[in-house]
Amino acid sequence: MNASLTILGCGSARPTFQNSPSGQVLDLCDKSFLIDCGEGTQLHIARLGVRTSRLYNIFISHLHGDHCYGLIGLLSTLSMQHRLQPMHIYAHADLETLLRPWLSYFGEEYSYDIVFHPINPRKREVIFEDRTVMVETIPLKHSVPCCGFLFSEIHRQPDGEGGYVRVPHKRYAYCSDTRYTETFLEQIRGVDMLYHESTYLNEHLHLCHHVMHSTAEQAATIAQKAEVGRLLLGHYSARVDDHELFLNEAQPVFQNTQLAHEGDKIEF
Ligand SMILES: [Zn+2]
Ligand SMILES: [Zn+2]
Repeated sequence: MNASLTILGCGSARPTFQNSPSGQVLDLCDKSFLIDCGEGTQLHIARLGVRTSRLYNIFISHLHGDHCYGLIGLLSTLSMQHRLQPMHIYAHADLETLLRPWLSYFGEEYSYDIVFHPINPRKREVIFEDRTVMVETIPLKHSVPCCGFLFSEIHRQPDGEGGYVRVPHKRYAYCSDTRYTETFLEQIRGVDMLYHESTYLNEHLHLCHHVMHSTAEQAATIAQKAEVGRLLLGHYSARVDDHELFLNEAQPVFQNTQLAHEGDKIEF
């Protein structure tokens, strides 16, 4: 089955006129999954015509503002649109602690329920599974607890003993934010598409370890070592205006690399 990824925001912490902070919608098996929700996410959802009626699940990688400041606005707008279906939010437990006072102040009359699912970003585990899609956390190395997400389209086949085995088809790995680490290589091996943060260029390498982000070349090294199908770069630093520079540094290491642009819908 075809999958597609719509880029809502692919900038990093400081929004620019060129980029909004992180946000993506993954369409897989006739369902939509929102991955991170930086400021401005709801505007991109509206502009790009993303159907929120198919959106039941939001996955937040970590509690830095550029990955979650857009939530309260989006949740409020969904209520103004008279949404009835519950919304499930998968995130570090602190997100509920932070949002509850806002929701009880602004959201008492919300038209739908919000269900929080606390996750442990330090541990690899299955956090969502239905008949056709499974989502696992990918523990990352960042300045606060942070995990990526591995989305797998699954088919169940009988194992001959009355049970079944899961056979993954399409797989998409989202890895933002992280410094260079190979700890998750095996988990993402051979995925159809990898989004790996590419905050910096080689000239900023001295910053990367300290601020716990990666360069484009490091993202490409991960893609090459994990033998993924294709690599998508994003989470660009506001210091870099010309994004082609990221591509120039990544492609010599991993040819099948492309840049994320807001508004792109990438089929895979
Ligand atoms: Zn970030
Ligand atoms: Zn971060």
